[in-house]
Amino acid sequence: MAGQSIGDMDVEYATTIAERAIRLMLQQSVPSTPNNFAVWFEYCMGSSVPLRKTIDILIAGKRPFDNATNHELYITYISPHSPPNPLAGLPEQLSGLIACAQQFLNTAVTDNRTQIAALGEVSSQAAASADPKQIIAKLVDELSKATARASALEANFAATSEELDTIRDSLKAAEQRSNTDALTGLANRHSMDEFLRQAQIDAMEKDEALSVFLIDIDHFKKFNDDYGHQVGDQVLRLVAKVLQEGVREVDLAARYGGEELIAVLPGADLETCASAAERVRRRIAEAKLTRRATGKEIGSITVSIGVAQFRLAESAEAMIERCDRGLYKAKRTGRNRTITEIELEREPEAGAA
Ligand code: GH3
Ligand code: MG
Ligand code: MG
Repeated sequence: MAGQSIGDMDVEYATTIAERAIRLMLQQSVPSTPNNFAVWFEYCMGSSVPLRKTIDILIAGKRPFDNATNHELYITYISPHSPPNPLAGLPEQLSGLIACAQQFLNTAVTDNRTQIAALGEVSSQAAASADPKQIIAKLVDELSKATARASALEANFAATSEELDTIRDSLKAAEQRSNTDALTGLANRHSMDEFLRQAQIDAMEKDEALSVFLIDIDHFKKFNDDYGHQVGDQVLRLVAKVLQEGVREVDLAARYGGEELIAVLPGADLETCASAAERVRRRIAEAKLTRRATGKEIGSITVSIGVAQFRLAESAEAMIERCDRGLYKAKRTGRNRTITEIELEREPEAGAA
């Protein structure tokens, strides 16, 4: 059977990985369901570093692989929601850049060889005791040729490195654009997803807290309806600015979507995160916004906020879902307030089973 393949994987290799996965699942008392098998197969393959680290941390911490944990591992690392391969779509400019560098090196090497051959010729003439005047003339000639070649090469190098600078700048700008929300200037959703994923791994590795708060502008539709979309945008930018100024350098403030913003606070527990959220909420309520068209102030802007703290190995979605529940409870209980996940647990929602 050797050499036969499943997809692009050798059967023998796949069998070895599968056996290892089943052995580990038995050791960790993980039920043999297809989803769990997919998780542990991937773990044994080692192709997902975050999955590998997460499971290693769970094993080292002797954490049980209960149904909730197994489900989170599957949702986070295996299901189609898994993040795209960060290497996919590596900018095409990179191959242009490599071609540039190769061309430059080829020219430099060829010139060097020509120069060595010419000097070799002069040296054999000297050995044959030819006329010293001729040898000196030849040497001077070769040296001036070498100087000309070196200058040409230098000019070529300068042009090439200028080109490389342009490529590097445009790559940087493209990366910046792809991570930034155009309206608010905050990180966009995609960038936040990546940041949060890494923050979860760091939190597990360092055994540190990690918390998130989700903001929704109160009655935002009214700003659009009463003053027009542009004023709505102005309100959104103001809230984004207050949020950005209200978090630390190590935190990430992002536009989650529409008129919802989010802040990810590595190292912060629920209480610290709730204080930061409250500070931001108060500053927004105190902020004044003047309409550009009329110079008049528009009514007060308030936001509702939900706060949650990361739980070991849970998915980002699960954590944000708790923020969302806090947020909607804040809306229902009068808006312009912050509700943490603890307040959700203390007071089960009306109508909840
Ligand atoms: P609530 O207090 O319950 O959150 O009320 P709301 O009016 O804020 O809630 P709703 O979700 O009904 O309205 C959100 C509005 O935000 C609807 C949508 O048109 C508007 N919106 C979403 N993105 C933008 C944007 O980029 N610019 C502007 N001006 N409006 C936006
Ligand atoms: Mg909303
Ligand atoms: Mg709203």
